[in-house]
Amino acid sequence: MPVIFASNDLDLQILHNKSINFESLEELNSYRDVFKEMKQILKPKNYGSGNHNGLGLALPQMGINKRGFIFRCSDHYEVAINPKILNHGNNKKKFYDESCLSMPDEWYVVERSYAINVVYRDINWNIKPAYLLYRDAEVFQHEYDHLDGVLISDIGVRLIEKKELQN
Ligand SMILES: [Zn+2]
Repeated sequence: MPVIFASNDLDLQILHNKSINFESLEELNSYRDVFKEMKQILKPKNYGSGNHNGLGLALPQMGINKRGFIFRCSDHYEVAINPKILNHGNNKKKFYDESCLSMPDEWYVVERSYAINVVYRDINWNIKPAYLLYRDAEVFQHEYDHLDGVLISDIGVRLIEKKELQN
């Protein structure tokens, strides 16, 4: 099951869909292999050497419109199921350069809240609250957007590389 790309019209429709919640642990268990595969995809040897790649991957990017993703949180990966962003702390914003596995080699400047309070279920259906800062918060918001069908190309400003300007 490969990652789908925004450059393909049919895949783009899936990426733009709003995804739906998991109903139960039983349903989630039927997706365990998908999450295993997603963890493999995030390993550095599988996606090249970009700085921000491999920080997260959402189920819609696997062609599945369900609300779940993997995100890098400090030094490990977390699975987030049916996530909610409870509040954007102080509404303070920060600009980030972001890339996306569904848009390889494209970079966008995106405005994000730098602190968020969130709650989600883990892979065992346990409820996990978290207070996320800076990059952890950025990655969570990027992946969360995928569940609402929002891509960085929808909300960000594209960074054009020098080599593209010369073509
Ligand atoms: Zn993405």
